[in-house]
Amino acid sequence: MAGVDASRLSLNTATVREQWSLAECIEGCARHGIGAVSPWRDKLHEMGTTAAARAIRDAGLGVSGLCRGGWYTEDGSLTQKVKDDNRRAVDEAAEIGAACLVMVVGGLPKGSKDLPAAQALVEEGLADTLDYARTVGVPVAIEPLHPMYAGDRACVSTTRQALDICDRLGDGIGVALDVYHVWWDFDLAKQIERAGRERLLAFHICDWLVPTKDLLLDRGMMGDGVIDIAHVRGLVEAQGFDGYVEVEIFSGDNWWTRDADEVLATMIDRAKDC
Ligand code: ZN
Repeated sequence: MAGVDASRLSLNTATVREQWSLAECIEGCARHGIGAVSPWRDKLHEMGTTAAARAIRDAGLGVSGLCRGGWYTEDGSLTQKVKDDNRRAVDEAAEIGAACLVMVVGGLPKGSKDLPAAQALVEEGLADTLDYARTVGVPVAIEPLHPMYAGDRACVSTTRQALDICDRLGDGIGVALDVYHVWWDFDLAKQIERAGRERLLAFHICDWLVPTKDLLLDRGMMGDGVIDIAHVRGLVEAQGFDGYVEVEIFSGDNWWTRDADEVLATMIDRAKDC
């Protein structure tokens, strides 16, 4: 299988979070020939959604997603504040022309040990956001996170669990598959086939370092770890996925400390083997 050309890559702004603003990410992608960007909402708010939408359009970039909505368990129940914030995220995704709104659904509420209750709360929240997102035409993408984050970030931990939710909620919702979170799953190939083109809304890449020194901030550059990225990409594309391949690397001690242009150049180079 041929590698990924720069024009098919998307830069998740988290990859150069410490170095660049969204404006700089947009300009940098254009300069490096990277086809798309995927902003985090803090960077988007800092620039202003309308200004960002215009700059992205003017640069000719695609938008592979907006990160992130979700966080439904934060208040321990589905509060109006959480619902409203997710509806705002849907509006922002629409305004910048994002292919989907990526959902990090939330972990256990503070003080709780009731995982099934947290999962029920997440599903209730997703249903509410989806109701609104359908009226705006923004696809909602559940990102299953590695189970090590079930306590504090996402109690949806596998692709199968995410697809079960999708099946219960209906149209307009799918999954954002991040190799970092799903590479270990023996059921992955089967679940990607089950998802099909319809439910595969985003594809994120980076690498799993051995050893991993930090649960959150030690993701690797493609090629530096143990994930067979080309294999997973093959599974996704066999279903007809033709969206951008989004590079999302949280790397406190390494890539966040480097010159951002070097990071982008490395991304492009490594993607050739993905
Ligand atoms: Zn991701």
